[in-house]
Amino acid sequence: MKLENTYIDLPDLFYTVVSPTPVSEPQLVKLNRTLAKELGLNIEELESVESINILAGNSVLEGIKPIAQAYAGHQFGHFTKLGDGRAILLGEWVTGDRNRVDIQLKGSGPTPYSRRGDGRAALGPMLREYIISEAMHALGIPTTRSLAVVATGEWVRRQAQEKGAILVRVAKSHLRVGTFQYAAAWGSKDDLEALTEYAIHRHYPTQETVENKALYLLEQVARQQADTVAKWQLVGFIHGVMNTDNMSISGETIDYGPCAFMDIYDLKTVFSSIDQEGRYAYGNQPRMAMWNLARFAESLLPIIHTDEKEAIKLAEEKLRVFDKFYKRYWLEGMRSKLGLFHEQEEDPTLIKDLLEMMEKEKADYTNTFVALTYGELEAIPFCQTEVFLEWNKRWKVRQAQQNETQEEACDLMQRSNPVVIPRNHRVEEAIDQAVNEGNEQVMEQLLEVLSNPYRYEERQRAYMTLPAPSSCPYKTFCGT
Ligand code: AMP
Ligand code: MG
Ligand code: MG
Repeated sequence: MKLENTYIDLPDLFYTVVSPTPVSEPQLVKLNRTLAKELGLNIEELESVESINILAGNSVLEGIKPIAQAYAGHQFGHFTKLGDGRAILLGEWVTGDRNRVDIQLKGSGPTPYSRRGDGRAALGPMLREYIISEAMHALGIPTTRSLAVVATGEWVRRQAQEKGAILVRVAKSHLRVGTFQYAAAWGSKDDLEALTEYAIHRHYPTQETVENKALYLLEQVARQQADTVAKWQLVGFIHGVMNTDNMSISGETIDYGPCAFMDIYDLKTVFSSIDQEGRYAYGNQPRMAMWNLARFAESLLPIIHTDEKEAIKLAEEKLRVFDKFYKRYWLEGMRSKLGLFHEQEEDPTLIKDLLEMMEKEKADYTNTFVALTYGELEAIPFCQTEVFLEWNKRWKVRQAQQNETQEEACDLMQRSNPVVIPRNHRVEEAIDQAVNEGNEQVMEQLLEVLSNPYRYEERQRAYMTLPAPSSCPYKTFCGT
């Protein structure tokens, strides 16, 4: 594997050269063969002892300089200096069709940015990131990918002793809003300019002449984030820790710590144990994305315009792009979920009325849309009510008004409504079996089903079941 590293050409303040810390007994737990193939990597080579040693951090590829990246972030609203505390960028892999991706090891030992952390990761949470990020990809949502999980053969101390592991993460880059905040807080104007150029070159290259690079980048990121967050909302994905250090400049979903999928439709849904106030609740995600983009814009102010007032005015104008595109993408997505091809004035009301019914009746979000798609309304209790039947009539009338056939509408719905999402109880079961029972079969089956989430076959159907009612709501944790 021949890796490049263009990040090293950025000013020194953005990174520190640091090697992974070797581990005692590396063992390949999971390799993503599909992704390896897509990237043009040699699978046999990846499975070799030499490769596993590299992925575990026991040997370093010849001629490369691994780095930890510096960044900052607003964590739950509080600005902090951060950086890769437990991740090391091995370098960039350039695919046959000239796509450049970061190959990063997560859990590979301490770095100068580790603060009080041990620089390590536990096997359970790394398998969780693997499962959910791959599920997101199959759902068509921009995301970092997981190439492999390597167990370290060492213990990590969390609430209890846990098995250690390293996740090999693949991303378009690891540039974050927090990287720009770092440049604005601790760098010069030149540093900020260099970072902006780098981000444009890597993610939003254009042949056209760009008058104001900072504004151009702000617009591209806002639009990309509008797309990603709209897609989260449409499948019921709750990120859980939308701090500015976890918002990627490329628009990929990144950081799978406390995320989870919503079962019952409720805008207030929160899974993260540390999100007491519901800052990152399902219904708040678009607003928080906008909040993060405002922090991004603030970081760029010095290079938007020399006059600060003028810079703020220009930035505020640009930021409206998010709202405009978010609304458009979300509405388009919702329309597709209902088999509607073109815009009509009454659509927002039709959609709102359905969602309000679902919220009031505590309906399962995914399964309700599956029932609508496949005409299996008897499976959903609230679909028997008078109010629903009234709504159903309106929806049918609306569908009949379009030129497309019923078959085409059906097809659109099937492509827009996943049958299977990574339900929390299934993910937990798979991880528990793999980590504690040495049985990877359950996880393999889950991964297989999740790789085809829009298929409505017997296998997928078995994964539609909701968890048994519990007095103890599902909770997630970050930093494990
Ligand atoms: P997160 O909340 O996952 O976005 O992480 C916030 C920051 O904490 C990042 O800078 C991480 O690198 C760092 N961090 C999380 N876990 C550890 C750990 N076990 N050791 C060192 N740093 C960590
Ligand atoms: Mg993070
Ligand atoms: Mg994290």
